[in-house]
Amino acid sequence: MLPDIYLDPGALQCLCASAMETYSRESGGFLMGRMTTRKVGKRSKRMLRISAVYPQQTANRGYKSVSDGNRQAGWRARVLLYTLSGLRGVKLVGGYHTHPGDACELSESDLEYLYGEVRYHKGRAGFQVMDRWLEIVVSIDKRRYVTRYSEEPFHTWHGHKRKIEGIVAADSGTGFHFTIGAFWVSELDAETDEEFNAMPRKALIKEAKVHAPI
Ligand SMILES: [Zn+2]
Repeated sequence: MLPDIYLDPGALQCLCASAMETYSRESGGFLMGRMTTRKVGKRSKRMLRISAVYPQQTANRGYKSVSDGNRQAGWRARVLLYTLSGLRGVKLVGGYHTHPGDACELSESDLEYLYGEVRYHKGRAGFQVMDRWLEIVVSIDKRRYVTRYSEEPFHTWHGHKRKIEGIVAADSGTGFHFTIGAFWVSELDAETDEEFNAMPRKALIKEAKVHAPI
């Protein structure tokens, strides 16, 4: 069983701010976390706590994609994250990207990108190919409200079976709607991309339940 995800308050804020800052273009970056035990109702559950989110500053942000804008800078960021991965138990566990006006699901091109992502370091010593990667997708939509709300900014959230959904009203006439989903992608250590692409999607992707401090 792959673990559920718990977003620290700061991680939730960073994911949503990253999506909202560039709401018409995709943005993305990396996730750090550690295993922890949390209470769900009366039971204790082991889950992966996302403690930090790093938005990639030099990314090339398109309307339907996000990728490295400056390969050397992207490489430097990864060197830091891989080198410090495991510091006091906090590891690099995956990444995230945003989907402006699009479904909160992983696309075929997302899977291809991840196959390349875990090989980015091209076998450099000390940088293993991760067999499993957590990818968070943040869908964002800007909406205009007909009914005018309070002039004060506010936010509201609710959980679904696995994803969480939130509204942040930036002003009385505009709101940003977020849907956050978390997906475990396995078999990334497949020998070739053909082998990886031939695997059934159900075997590769397991959607995790997202818990958030809301
Ligand atoms: Zn995507």
